[in-house]
Amino acid sequence: MSDTQETVLVAGGGIGGLAAALALVRRGYRVRVFEQAPEIGEIGAGMQLGPNAFHALDALGVGELARSRAVFTDFMVMHDAVDGAQVGRILTDERFRQRFGNPYAVIHRVDVHTALLEGAVATGRVDFQTSTRIERVEQDEAGVTVIDQRGQRLRGAALIAADGVKSVVRAQYVNDPARVTGHVVYRAVVDRAEFPEDLRWNAASLWAGPKCHLVHYPLRGGEQYNVVVTFHSRQPEAWGVTEGSKAEVQSYFQGIVPMARQLIDLPRSWKRWATADRDPIGTWSFGRATLLGDAAHPTTQYMAQGACMALEDAVTLGEALRVHPDDWTKAFDLYQRSRVARTARIVLSGREMGRIYHAEGVERLVRNQLWKGRSQERFHDALEWLYGWNVSNCLTQPGDPS
Ligand SMILES: Cc1cc2nc3c(=O)[nH]c(=O)nc-3n(C[C@H](O)[C@H](O)[C@H](O)COP(=O)(O)OP(=O)(O)OC[C@H]3O[C@@H](n4cnc5c(N)ncnc54)[C@H](O)[C@@H]3O)c2cc1C
Repeated sequence: MSDTQETVLVAGGGIGGLAAALALVRRGYRVRVFEQAPEIGEIGAGMQLGPNAFHALDALGVGELARSRAVFTDFMVMHDAVDGAQVGRILTDERFRQRFGNPYAVIHRVDVHTALLEGAVATGRVDFQTSTRIERVEQDEAGVTVIDQRGQRLRGAALIAADGVKSVVRAQYVNDPARVTGHVVYRAVVDRAEFPEDLRWNAASLWAGPKCHLVHYPLRGGEQYNVVVTFHSRQPEAWGVTEGSKAEVQSYFQGIVPMARQLIDLPRSWKRWATADRDPIGTWSFGRATLLGDAAHPTTQYMAQGACMALEDAVTLGEALRVHPDDWTKAFDLYQRSRVARTARIVLSGREMGRIYHAEGVERLVRNQLWKGRSQERFHDALEWLYGWNVSNCLTQPGDPS
């Protein structure tokens, strides 16, 4: 770690913002994180983390902390929700862990966020300013100024905008439209005692289609289960989060097997997400400001990689600053070139996975044939591009296609 007096500003105290703060401190900078909420925190829901995310968490110095709170799954599995037949099963066992150098895991979002927060606080070099919503950015030769909702002007050497799917910094520099999917997601966490015994698998499990899917997996040593259900809404949707209603969830999911359908009767309260993504963009660095995480590449959740990408972004940014210390334009350019194609592939693959999960009619029959007889080795080979990421290969090399 080198030491510099420069302070870098981070907009957003989510997983991306905290990961960025840790990466910057590891390069010797002081960091100020601005969070619009009154407290730095995360929502009560689970998430899946691939080995690539653990490589990133390791590089940020909090891998052990995160691993200690995660459940390492034995497999991931997809069933057809109409007839209950198994469509595909990928082992995430010891052989998978050996191959990718880290586990596949399911974890409470709060536990990932807390691991990053504890790591950041422990450095003593990250200041947090809550109830501060960044609304505008100005730049000059020597630095950036952000302006918050009170008109307060805050100065730093550079800005990392990790302000999420509705990033105001992206709106200022890019102003591209969101692509509302019309897919609605309901999420809940259920105690083990209330979760059906016949579904207590140590796996990331998915029941697919038609025009809907259901996901469940254990959290916190199997004491809780995460339940996520997604369907195509009958009505026009506006992008955002609202309180959900059990009656609405129950009005969908007709004609699916009882084993899967029992999931929708479980939660006492649901949160409702009307989802969106944006088309990938090739430029997300603007002088001394750059985007990171969902602000840079908002995606549907179907690849379960949004947070993994935010963690990778942060590590890659740190590596770019190792190559170009204090040269924000060059470092941000290298960071962006190293990330654009990979994260765009996730966004576009997410759209395809949504189609596969929600297939109906003949498309459903095709989906159910896709992976028949495929060996574990071939599955793992197919996932190499995704899970084979690590700190030593994260930067675009000279000669790589741009
Ligand atoms: C249903 C669902 C399931 C998912 N499952 C997975 C999964 O299994 N695995 C996975 O890897 N990812 C998953 N994701 C994606 C993941 O949740 C996101 O990609 C990740 O949280 C992005 O982190 P972030 O820090 O970029 O953004 P956010 O988590 O949105 O954080 C942004 C922060 O910035 C703050 N903020 C916003 N605007 C401002 C402002 N102007 N000024 C100051 N602060 C501001 C916000 O309050 C927030 O705290 C899922 C997403 C959804 C919707």
